[in-house]
Amino acid sequence: MTTVYNFSAGPATLPPPVLAQIQAELLDYHGSGMSVMELSHRSALFGEILQEAEGRLRQLMTIPDHYAVLFLQGGASLQFSMVPLNLAGQQTAYYYDTGIWSAKAIQAAQKVANVHILASSKEQHYHQLPHFQPAPTEGAYLHITTNNTIVGTMYTELPDHGSLPLVADMSSNILSVDYPVSEFGLIYAGAQKNLGAAGVTIVIVDKNLLPEKEGAIPMLDYRLQAQQPSLYNTPPTFGIYVVNLMLAWVQAQGGIPAMTQACQRKAGKLYHYLDHSPLFSAYVRQNRSLTNIPFTTGSQKLDDTFIQEAAAAGFMNLKGHRTVGGMRASLYNAFPEAGVDALLTFMARFEEVNQ
Ligand code: PMP
Repeated sequence: MTTVYNFSAGPATLPPPVLAQIQAELLDYHGSGMSVMELSHRSALFGEILQEAEGRLRQLMTIPDHYAVLFLQGGASLQFSMVPLNLAGQQTAYYYDTGIWSAKAIQAAQKVANVHILASSKEQHYHQLPHFQPAPTEGAYLHITTNNTIVGTMYTELPDHGSLPLVADMSSNILSVDYPVSEFGLIYAGAQKNLGAAGVTIVIVDKNLLPEKEGAIPMLDYRLQAQQPSLYNTPPTFGIYVVNLMLAWVQAQGGIPAMTQACQRKAGKLYHYLDHSPLFSAYVRQNRSLTNIPFTTGSQKLDDTFIQEAAAAGFMNLKGHRTVGGMRASLYNAFPEAGVDALLTFMARFEEVNQ
């Protein structure tokens, strides 16, 4: 088998022991004679998987009992609409505009709610977070994107949200950074970066925020989804199984504190290199992400050569997002530190030849 390091921003690399367990259990899950894919979503065996996944997430993130944990479909992008549909009502929904995904969340919300952008760093090309603003005194919620996957910034401190529920898109740093769940009214994250395979979206919501009135579209109604947790319709069963294995892996590594430490080590090595390299540089100087690190040589041609040569050497998916160009290394929880070390050696060699 070819060994490669996969720097993809998502779907992203998974830990080899998780993949090995999926393979080992694929044809006969726990003596059932069936694959997880073939189990009824209402079967006892799948019920255990769902319960375990929820329990593990509750334990890892210290999720209080009055929060529902939902495993939904539609990606983080559907949450861009579900959040305002369920939580905005007639009130203003406030947003921090910190990147392309925040902007997409804002655009989706504007279609169904009254939206106010509290602050934006668009004019700075999103290379840093905007200054925090005082919390609005009234409103439906305040939305942030805790980690901006494309440009590589993240919140280490949370903005003041006053009495408004804080809503967060944590797709690209959930379980890498220890944000206190009780500070948030709602958290959502697509699974394909830090939680497993594409197809599952996790929503953690304070049940006190759920509207009493039934929503117009049943599948988009958190209240209904929370009444029969994740079983209103057929959930993404195989994806939830993968999430459960990923959560077990995170627990075995020592939980979020261990993941944060590992991310700090991995990202720290790469930032240190970039900050001292005569060729490569990181353009984000403040609010640097621990999980997505964009960088460039300053020349598009040389960036393209680097990406090509890196891929030929087994360093895959280093191409930056199409909207920003350059390179990006995504170093989620499952990305091995050895991959960062190997990349740095490769970059040093490239630097020697191309200075
Ligand atoms: N939010 C963030 C922060 C993301 O990084 C992404 C995907 N890269 C999305 C939302 C969109 O997620 P999905 O494709 O699951 O809808």
